[in-house]
Amino acid sequence: MNRRQWLHYSAAGMGAAGLPLMAAAEQGLFPQAQGAGPQAVAQGRKLPPLRITDVKTILTAPAGIRLVVVKVTTNEAGLYGLGCATFTQRARVVETAIDKYLKPFLIGKDPLQIEDVYQSGFVSSYWRNGPVLGNALSGVDMALWDILGKRAGLPLYQLFGGKCREFVDTYTHTSGQTLRDVENAVRAAQQRGFRYIRVQIAVPGYSTYGVGGAMQPQEDVPVNRRVVTWEPGPYARLLPKLFDHLRKQIGDEVELLHDIHERVPPILGMQMCRDLEQYRPFFIEDPFSPEDVGYFEKLRALTSTPLAMGELFNNPNEYLSLISNRLIDFIRIHISQIGGLTMARKVGQLCEFFAVRTAWHGPGDVSPVGHAANVHLDLATPNFGIQEGRQFNQAEQDVFPGCPTLRNGAYTVTDRPGLGIDLNEDLARKFPITDDPPFDMRWGNTRRRDGTVVKP
Ligand code: MG
Repeated sequence: MNRRQWLHYSAAGMGAAGLPLMAAAEQGLFPQAQGAGPQAVAQGRKLPPLRITDVKTILTAPAGIRLVVVKVTTNEAGLYGLGCATFTQRARVVETAIDKYLKPFLIGKDPLQIEDVYQSGFVSSYWRNGPVLGNALSGVDMALWDILGKRAGLPLYQLFGGKCREFVDTYTHTSGQTLRDVENAVRAAQQRGFRYIRVQIAVPGYSTYGVGGAMQPQEDVPVNRRVVTWEPGPYARLLPKLFDHLRKQIGDEVELLHDIHERVPPILGMQMCRDLEQYRPFFIEDPFSPEDVGYFEKLRALTSTPLAMGELFNNPNEYLSLISNRLIDFIRIHISQIGGLTMARKVGQLCEFFAVRTAWHGPGDVSPVGHAANVHLDLATPNFGIQEGRQFNQAEQDVFPGCPTLRNGAYTVTDRPGLGIDLNEDLARKFPITDDPPFDMRWGNTRRRDGTVVKP
């Protein structure tokens, strides 16, 4: 029996030479059963102790979106892990945080001490929280889970407790300039197998979140001064008409979602959620900005519309009370933003006790490595709700062999150990990120007619 087989059978409930686990433990084959740590376990298996030998970032943009991926290398030949650290609006800052600060903190440490690396990394800058540290930590954290899975010879969903489901239902994005356009887009998505569909519609005269092609080019204006004009009132009046149209034309079976994306004053967000209740949305996302979460208690009392929130959250204090007071139905956290899988697993388990379901953020600015992490967690989370899905283009699939597969509206992953996804570094270099401009400047340049900045 080779080492891989030995590990496989150990994990499947049989010890060395086919001994049941209890018998194997009695014979001292599993030192952890006698209180020894992971290093001793490795020694018990006649494997050398693991050490982190390198930590590096790889920046690539195979779909035109700046992705930050971390590779953690170990002293065991060929054993490395990958993690997603994508904060696309500040990619170079995360790169610096990892290469210049976390790397020297981590070299020589045991990559199997995942919790300790997370805890110590979190306080290593003394000042903590925020998207830069969160994503930097996440890149390392996911890579360590990937290493653990590879060394154990098990996919991560297995290490997380095993599959609770065979596939992961996803929702896709649709949009259009008119009611009929959106209806046609929803029908096309249904034809592709989607049962959960996000719907966004253009507001005449304004650029609207989530509506492709709505932004008008302003070639004569420098990119940092191109303004996107937006007014909340016309949008809030149009959206119920969209839901009404879709329910009348398409019926009740399709699950409809919508993202307000925080763009309206809280009182208008409350009105919209109440207006949409009669159309039975699967969820309405981000009716308030993170600064206005105090309104959720009032919104909950007003309507039974299912509420999703959280892609901008960094720190547990931003979401703990929303979960423990049962004020939201879906947690929409961006896993790399909060520090990676170690933290996300805790959040998912916390949510389980309050009947809050997971809906991890999964747009194009999550790398395929991050999507794989989402799906492994989705598979093993009893209180999974829905996963935002992405159809990876050919370049993404080539740069990241082993991307999750999206078919008939659902994700599956391979049974390969760890995250089950790799990175072709030579190919990644052929899709360099752009530094001019260094980020999408729409976010700070969305303004009302009078020039007031609108929160994204
Ligand atoms: Mg969103």
